Amino acid sequence: MAAPEKLALFGGTPARATLLPYGRHEITPEDIDAVVRALRSDWITGGPAVAKFEAAFAAHAASRHAVSFSSGTAALHGAVYAAALRPGDEAITTPLTFCATANAILYQSAEPRFADIDDATLTLDPDAAAARASPRTRALIAVDFAGHPADWDQLRAVAARRGWITIADAAHATGAEYRGRRAGTLADLTTFSFHPVKHIAAGEGGMVTTDNDDFAARLRRFRNHGIASEARERQARGEWQAEMVDLGYNYRLSDIACALARSQLARLDDQLAARRRLRTAYDAAFAAWPELTLPAERPDCRSAWHIYPVRLRADRVRAPRDEILRALRAENIGATVHYTPVHLLPYYRERFGYARGLCPRAEAAAAASITLPLFPRMTDDDIADVVRALRKVLDYFGSN
Ligand SMILES: *Cc1c(COP(=O)(O)O)cnc(C)c1O
Repeated sequence: MAAPEKLALFGGTPARATLLPYGRHEITPEDIDAVVRALRSDWITGGPAVAKFEAAFAAHAASRHAVSFSSGTAALHGAVYAAALRPGDEAITTPLTFCATANAILYQSAEPRFADIDDATLTLDPDAAAARASPRTRALIAVDFAGHPADWDQLRAVAARRGWITIADAAHATGAEYRGRRAGTLADLTTFSFHPVKHIAAGEGGMVTTDNDDFAARLRRFRNHGIASEARERQARGEWQAEMVDLGYNYRLSDIACALARSQLARLDDQLAARRRLRTAYDAAFAAWPELTLPAERPDCRSAWHIYPVRLRADRVRAPRDEILRALRAENIGATVHYTPVHLLPYYRERFGYARGLCPRAEAAAAASITLPLFPRMTDDDIADVVRALRKVLDYFGSN
């Protein structure tokens, strides 16, 4: 057998000359025109581009309402507010997520309770969620991890039996489908993010979709300081009073961002197809590699493929995950990790005394996981570079 190629980590030539990031947004000339039109209009915030984007997004998600927010995090905060969580209440959530999911529960002075994940889809396990129930539980927040919908029929059944409100954090899952239904209608409230690594890149931005009129009214009030009417409505009616009826925030999304986001929404289906094609190429390349567990997709779901996280098999790979990650980065492959489980982040450990062992499946998955680059503009050559670099690294660190 030939000696393994010298790793870039040890001074060898990198698999590619320039860094391939794990995600990258795309801005087209049409996007730029849409933003310029917004800039030349009478309203750069609080204007008609906001309502137009919200209507288009609601139509795409087949939800009754879509309420825009200044970020996915603000959208989560709004959803937790709409669900009326209060001090002393608890919400069950997954630890395998970005910290913002659980932080939103803390913003309303409620307490997150972490339940373990399903090992195949890496989404909140309905049985584990049910087992974490307490008399103080009021809501359940699951994440459509990597773009794959959580098992929403089962999660809703668990919630319905106990009167909990369901919230989907679909920051990864714009355009995903579960049993023929789009993300946006699977839970009582669904939140989205328009951060540039996500499907729609508005710079910053978020959305909450819901079919519930009362939730929608609460969301609109919350993003606007707790004021019951919006500036443009007051102007149209010749009113000047702005009656604040509850404590809210300025979480509005500008017309500039909404114009950009709506232009991108028009290409979402192409983008989803591109992501799916890249996922298929990775799957084909890695099909016979014993070192990896590939991301799953249930037959009744269509993932939105926000990311492509592979898991290293401990019985097949000698080196720690972080060493593999460092070696890949040295090869100029911008691999990363999604995520450190939230209960193991320093803030959560210190505040709540959490330790390893609370959610063993999530902890094991996170420790073995490497997210490979995936974004719509990636080329076949980029995929080939990732495959070649990973093969080189695993040949060096492999078990034999
Ligand atoms: C990106 C993300 C968020 C936060 O969205 P922002 O728009 O960055 O505030 C929340 N949850 C998950 C799972 C995310 O990936």
